[in-house]
Amino acid sequence: MPLPDFATLYWLIILTLIFFVIITGRYFLFAGLFYFIFYVWFKEKWKSRKINTRNFKPGQFKVEVKWSTVTALLFSIAGTATVILWQKGYTKVYTGLDMYGWWYLPVSLIIFMLLHETYYYWLHRWMHKPGIFKIVHKIHHDSNITSPFTAFSFHPLEGILQAIFLPIMLMILPMHYYVIIIQLTIMTISSVINHLDIEIYSKKFNNNFLGRWIIGATHHSLHHKQFKYNYGLYFTFWDKIKKTESPIFKKLFESATSKQQTAK
Ligand SMILES: [Zn+2]
Ligand SMILES: [Zn+2]
Repeated sequence: MPLPDFATLYWLIILTLIFFVIITGRYFLFAGLFYFIFYVWFKEKWKSRKINTRNFKPGQFKVEVKWSTVTALLFSIAGTATVILWQKGYTKVYTGLDMYGWWYLPVSLIIFMLLHETYYYWLHRWMHKPGIFKIVHKIHHDSNITSPFTAFSFHPLEGILQAIFLPIMLMILPMHYYVIIIQLTIMTISSVINHLDIEIYSKKFNNNFLGRWIIGATHHSLHHKQFKYNYGLYFTFWDKIKKTESPIFKKLFESATSKQQTAK
């Protein structure tokens, strides 16, 4: 069945609406699920892993949901733009699972995430420059004590800078559309985990090779408090290379994860 021409006003609106429903749904599903699991249903179990004792600001969730919804709209527009670029043949998105070999599916995911990490780390450092910070990035840092709903709470300018990465990458890097869906899901879950303000990784995990390179709630919570450390998105390698990892991270992580073992 031939596809309609998506580059018409009708399809621009329909596609953006479809993406908006999916992206806001994904945000509410994961932020809501993590909120209920860690703050409501199993609150007692995870209480000792809470990083900050200070309460969330009154009305904080409402503000975070509002900005995250604006971000979702910007991500939706980027999604529509990607579909149009794909239809016009400008992207390297492919549909046959074995087109580049099965091995390429996880490899393309890893390449994408490493490049995304690099883009975000340097964008994030730039957003912390005086003058830029107030305009572009302050909204995100208004959540001093982060919550799962902080995940996409960005100023629209920051939202745009984050949204453009995927369509640009898809014009360069061949990716199967399943891999794109997996990547977007990982991105959402990772952002929710990093803003949870409850450390969910174990001491053992952090001491093993993989754990040392993956960002969690303690790591990112320090960014929201100290500002000049821990700029990473998924991984810690840029923070380690550029020596911007918080000097108190290790100690704080140890203490957060030790408490769990003594808690009843
Ligand atoms: Zn920041
Ligand atoms: Zn953050």
